[in-house]
Amino acid sequence: MFRSLHMKLMLILLLLITSLMAVVGAFLTTSVSSFYINTFYEQMSDMFGEGQRDFVASLRSEAARDDGSGAGLQVILKANAGELGIDYRSRNYFILDGRTGAFLDGSAGADSLPRDQSPNLLTARNAVAHQDPALVGDESDITADYMDVAIPILGGDNAFIIYILDNKDSVSDLNDQLFTIIMQALVIGLLISVLLSFLLSKTMVGPIEKLTAGAERVAAGDFDSALPVESTDEIGILTGTFNEMAGVLQETLAAVENERDKLDTLFLHMTDGVVAFNHEGQLIHCNPAANTMLHRSLDDRCSYEELFGSVYSFQDMLSLQRPNYAEGEMVVEERTLELYLAPFSDQARGGVLIVLHDVTEQHRNEERRKEFVANVSHELRTPLTNVRSYAETLLDSGGTIPQETAAGFLRIIINETDRMTHIVQDLLTLSRLDSGHTELSLTRFSFAEAIESVHLANALAAKKRGHQLSCGSLEDLPLIVGDRSRLEQVMMNILGNAIKYTPDGGHIRITAGSTDTSVWMEVSDDGIGIPEKDRERIFDRFYRVDKARSRESGGTGLGLSIAREIVLRHSGTIALAPHQGPGTTVRLTLPISGPSAS
Ligand code: ADP
Repeated sequence: MFRSLHMKLMLILLLLITSLMAVVGAFLTTSVSSFYINTFYEQMSDMFGEGQRDFVASLRSEAARDDGSGAGLQVILKANAGELGIDYRSRNYFILDGRTGAFLDGSAGADSLPRDQSPNLLTARNAVAHQDPALVGDESDITADYMDVAIPILGGDNAFIIYILDNKDSVSDLNDQLFTIIMQALVIGLLISVLLSFLLSKTMVGPIEKLTAGAERVAAGDFDSALPVESTDEIGILTGTFNEMAGVLQETLAAVENERDKLDTLFLHMTDGVVAFNHEGQLIHCNPAANTMLHRSLDDRCSYEELFGSVYSFQDMLSLQRPNYAEGEMVVEERTLELYLAPFSDQARGGVLIVLHDVTEQHRNEERRKEFVANVSHELRTPLTNVRSYAETLLDSGGTIPQETAAGFLRIIINETDRMTHIVQDLLTLSRLDSGHTELSLTRFSFAEAIESVHLANALAAKKRGHQLSCGSLEDLPLIVGDRSRLEQVMMNILGNAIKYTPDGGHIRITAGSTDTSVWMEVSDDGIGIPEKDRERIFDRFYRVDKARSRESGGTGLGLSIAREIVLRHSGTIALAPHQGPGTTVRLTLPISGPSAS
């Protein structure tokens, strides 16, 4: 009911009407008063002024005849009462003794005369005293509560003063009536203003209320209901503008939301960890990768100092000027994390953003690369040194060495050269497999036949060493897809190792089988076995449990690495299987359908 705009409108209208009425009232009463006063003095001037000499002359001649009681004058004045405006109530005439000022006669009693001597009466008495009939008391005093005119009438020895007095009762009555009318008008005006304020507030406040409700809906996220534009006035324009603004806001919010979703998805799925801290060093954001890398579930209670204080102090980070950033490294649970730290705002209320990158593999690869290069150099240097020293011996002997010994030296040189060729070939194979340049020539072939041919190829070597080489049932093995010659190379390597690393007269057994999707082959021996500590590493390049023994038997330490690469290219696995008693079991598993697309 008392909505503020309604109240304001009502107050404004009330003030307007009240002030209007006050002005009108003041203007009317002043105008009426001055009109009445002017009319009075004009009337008096008409009767007693220069232009009315007859009337004054008749009064003078009557005065000359008068016996001093003023009765004659009374008759004349009574006869002219209408023209003088005498109403016997507010306006009266009085005949006064010109010398004493005593009341002689009049239209009202002496008690109606003003108590104080009026200035006009004094002027007239002065005129009588100086025998100057032209001195008439007709000064108007707007502040006085009466109006009067005093005319000296000198006739013979007699001297009278005709005193016309108006006590302004008529003006007061009129003003009272005016005041009542103005008051009534004011009351009616007030009622109208209340009504008008209702109407105005209904037409103005209604649309504003709708706008307010619309704004509340928009603030709550409801952009769908546009406000109807019901008029062409300012409120209509405002409603239209509001609808446009809501539309723009909706689009902007959608764009911002979209951007945020994109960023969220990015943060969620990126492999690098991202952690952000506010200007107080409290965590405000982190992605799952960061939790994994730091091995703890981060929440907003975590602080910068606690997590990264050991790398850089928070103040140092905040004082960095964009686009500068800092790099650091830390080790968490044996994993090496590379850190990129940057302040994300130049302003005081910025913070610090940290990107975590797991470089453990990178470091390991680097280590492996160094180790590999060292191994390659070492592997090649040994045969080269041998070749050189035997060749030098032959050269230095000048033909003194017996033919047989020289031939032995040359055989060693050839063997060492073969060894080097072997190593270089293996390295080349590995490098091709690494770079993906080796194309597999895929065919569908019998897994059993492949095993059988490898079995036969090694039978002689096994026999030479006095091994008992046996092969389990190869029936029911399916056809598989793969590069047969390379897979046979893998099997040769496994079986060759079993023969090599089993002391003479050992037992070597080949078994094979299949599941719905894969085939497997195991080669078990009762040889020297592989110590627990080396089991993980025998597939590494140049890794050999017993270097001397391996070299003796012509191994390069690259066989199993090549085998693993080939098997991986076939989407299969090669690993050491659990083994009972002394010896080793190597298991090869391959998918029947061949290498998968990835
Ligand atoms: P190498 O050319 O030296 O045989 P491999 O890569 O084929 O190289 O084998 C790596 C190492 O694994 C060998 O040096 C050997 O120490 C070990 N190894 C492989 N197979 C066997 C096995 N059946 N019994 C014992 N040790 C083996």
